[in-house]
Amino acid sequence: MTDAVVGRLRAALGDRVDTAAESLDAARADKSGHAAPGRPLAVVHAASVEDVQAVMRIATATRTPVVVQGARTGLAGGSNAGAGEIALSLRGMTRILEVRPDDLLAVVEPGILNADLNAALAEHGLWWAPDPASRAISTVGGNIATGAGGLLCAKYGVVRDAVLGLDVVLADGRLLRLGHRSVKGVTGLDLTSLFIGSEGTLGVVVGATLKLRRLVPGTVCTIAATFPGVRDAAAGSAAVTAAGIQPAIMELMDATSLAAAHALLALPAPTPGAAQLTVQTDGPAAVAEAEAVARVLRDAGGTVAVSQDPDEGERLLAVRRAMHPAMESLGTTLIEDVSVPRSALPDMFDEIARIERDYGIVIPTVAHAGDGNLHPNFIFEGAEVPPRIWEAADELFRAALRLGGTLTGEHGIGVLKSRWLADELGDDQWELQRQVTAVFDPLGILNPGKVFAR
Ligand SMILES: Cc1cc2nc3c(=O)[nH]c(=O)nc-3n(C[C@H](O)[C@H](O)[C@H](O)COP(=O)(O)OP(=O)(O)OC[C@H]3O[C@@H](n4cnc5c(N)ncnc54)[C@H](O)[C@@H]3O)c2cc1C
Repeated sequence: MTDAVVGRLRAALGDRVDTAAESLDAARADKSGHAAPGRPLAVVHAASVEDVQAVMRIATATRTPVVVQGARTGLAGGSNAGAGEIALSLRGMTRILEVRPDDLLAVVEPGILNADLNAALAEHGLWWAPDPASRAISTVGGNIATGAGGLLCAKYGVVRDAVLGLDVVLADGRLLRLGHRSVKGVTGLDLTSLFIGSEGTLGVVVGATLKLRRLVPGTVCTIAATFPGVRDAAAGSAAVTAAGIQPAIMELMDATSLAAAHALLALPAPTPGAAQLTVQTDGPAAVAEAEAVARVLRDAGGTVAVSQDPDEGERLLAVRRAMHPAMESLGTTLIEDVSVPRSALPDMFDEIARIERDYGIVIPTVAHAGDGNLHPNFIFEGAEVPPRIWEAADELFRAALRLGGTLTGEHGIGVLKSRWLADELGDDQWELQRQVTAVFDPLGILNPGKVFAR
């Protein structure tokens, strides 16, 4: 059967079907550190919508599972392809099909990297706002399938706010065009939104009509505030939000993550125990907003410096962006992704401190404090997450839910969090959502064992 499936793929797609051992091994894992058991049957490097349709028709005819892959930078194991599965890579579909500055939209293929798209859009004075820290290495299709967020999303929105329409290939190979090119559009059910964050379980995103913004050059102010402890920094960020100020960026780093990032970048060590908030304001009111932010943070006990120097701003954000490699330098990392209402950030840091004490571990944590999304990092030895780390993570998830938050702010459920999904959704909603996936994929061949497995 295995040979028959690969034979049919080869007959339809020729040398775009890749069975080299190193390609199959690479397709087993994303950046979560988790790898699927076994090797997939083949990696198909799709070059066109027709290629994707051909793969899905063969998969349906042979009941073969398909794992859609962008750049495999995901942190939930969602794109990991294992034994008996076809890895369908969209990474080669990188064309920008249309840019319309007048309508503020672009039509693109899914495999283009976020940063490459934005470099091309900049020539038209435009940008696509979602800016995951992985923007240089992740695809627009992957950003859409995970519902990605980023540093700027508290002010400029997440992927969900920046997509007008999607072209999708269903499990049986049919092509659907969802959504619209107009600013408004409420015809029928909003299937575009349903696909955003669906993690490869509903269909293959083969094209996207993106909602763009105009690049507006102007002053950007950066505020660096250090606090004696992480709870104080979290209370400071909550106070900024409560004061009604809307920074473009508000990032929090606790003492351990700050020290690790400084060490990685060979910067002088920060004050021991100190946590840092890095805030940026932009637009016509940038200077006044920066002064208002600085006042609030000083009142909250922070030591505050304000700069209008773009290089200084970039230098501070480079420290934040160094977080992932800095954590990798400490050991194997399970990067978590809970989100809470912004007022609950200080309480969530109390919960993390409690879990650190109870489990005798250190959990370096950064947060997109502007939107309440925390990335606590569990560091351990070896390739597999030890059961005790999962127990600590379980406590983290339950604490976030108790505080009115969610299991995942932007990374998705994938394979790593599927066992907790029903805890947040409840059994009735879990079952309803599973039934929705079955409408799109009745044979259950799209990303089986992910998201709705329990
Ligand atoms: C250093 C680093 C920093 C990161 N920072 C952020 C961050 O700030 N914000 C954030 O949200 N994420 C972040 N991530 C996580 C990751 O980059 C995002 O989830 C990203 O959107 C995944 O894109 P990808 O192209 O790598 O998708 P993949 O990892 O290949 O796939 C992710 C999921 O989407 C599905 N999928 C991919 N393409 C398609 C498609 N065309 N059609 C249907 N399904 C598809 C896959 O099946 C899988 O379930 C970070 C990761 C790293 C390594």
